[in-house]
Amino acid sequence: MATTHPTPHPSTHLIHHPYQPPSGFGAPMPPVHKASTVFFANVAAMRARDWRNKAGYTYGLHGTPTTFTLEARMASVEGARHCLLVPSGLAAIANVSLALLKAGDEVLIPSNAYGPNKALADGELAQWGISHALYDPMNPADLAARITPRTALVWLEVPGSVTMEFADLPALVRVCRAANDGAGVRCALDNTWGAGLAFAPFDLDGAGLAVDVSIHALTKYPSGGGDVLMGSVCTVDDALHERLLLAHMRLGLGVAANDCETILRSLPSMALRYDAHDAAARHLALWLTQHRAVSQVLHPVLAGAPGHAHWQALCTSAQRPQGRAAGLFSVMLHARLSRDQVDAFCDGLQLFKLGYSWGGPISLVVPYELATMRPTWPQSVQPGHLVRFSIGLEDPADLVADLQQALAAAGMP
Ligand SMILES: *Cc1c(COP(=O)(O)O)cnc(C)c1O
Repeated sequence: MATTHPTPHPSTHLIHHPYQPPSGFGAPMPPVHKASTVFFANVAAMRARDWRNKAGYTYGLHGTPTTFTLEARMASVEGARHCLLVPSGLAAIANVSLALLKAGDEVLIPSNAYGPNKALADGELAQWGISHALYDPMNPADLAARITPRTALVWLEVPGSVTMEFADLPALVRVCRAANDGAGVRCALDNTWGAGLAFAPFDLDGAGLAVDVSIHALTKYPSGGGDVLMGSVCTVDDALHERLLLAHMRLGLGVAANDCETILRSLPSMALRYDAHDAAARHLALWLTQHRAVSQVLHPVLAGAPGHAHWQALCTSAQRPQGRAAGLFSVMLHARLSRDQVDAFCDGLQLFKLGYSWGGPISLVVPYELATMRPTWPQSVQPGHLVRFSIGLEDPADLVADLQQALAAAGMP
């Protein structure tokens, strides 16, 4: 007697329904593939599968069509061959340091680096027998003098976090290449500020001078919304990518498909937004140079700003003589003003919100205690109170009016 398949119970039908949507759906946004589990056609396919090969799928943590799409787009923005996505910009820094450093090694970090990079070195890296030292990024000879055979990684960042000094990045990379009698030392750039738009991290001089790794907080301009955390780790070298990929897998640094979707939605407008933030920030920075309460404006596009010539050399071109810069700058308010006045100014702003991060549509302000952030007060920064602005996409004239009213209300007419 032939066996007949019983009609599936409705609860099974809810899961294993025969309907397949027609193929050929096309629309501006790529579909969002969400998965921890990924199906294999048969056991042989499952056994043959190598999770490192991005021509197929193994498990959600190792990538989906959605993550591979965003990786490929970020690699092209950075001028790289490979990209890994991680859950935040800080996770990108951790992925690189944890993949490339071992007990007994030393990592060199610029003294003006993004603070949590230094905190990771002070914390887990120290705990695991990896030492670190800070170098003066404005003095390539200082970096050269600090490299020893124990140096396994040099972090680079332009401009400096909060104080915005612009280092001579190509010179620092050349120091890394020449180190240890030409054997060289690996260098990784925090390229969040440049975003792959202000300069090309894998071709700094038009003749192929490149960093080894470029990390990027996609939280900033690629997202552009102030609503997603993500990071990327880009490389051109296959073996180096593989080493970073293995650490990425072992550390479980996966990202959520819906977060990728948000960034894929924002990416097409990133270059337009970057230039709009840039233009507005230049307008406000120039206005602030004229204000009596301001003793110094720290924005690399301004003549006289620390490292301005290095910014100009790296970020301007014959085709775009005005160059590119992120919409971020700091001011030093006069030392004669009280901290209460500075706080009152920040509190009095209406359009600018108090908040960390940058790259979103809303302008942000943060007063920083610079003396507690650096081993010594930076030479290029005048005494006073540091306030950092991230310029959003509001009308620049409205932002100027907001600065003006808040300065006046805090007793700084
Ligand atoms: C914001 C930022 C990071 C960290 O990004 P998160 O996504 O907030 O972790 C790293 N480096 C720089 C320069 C940043 O501005």
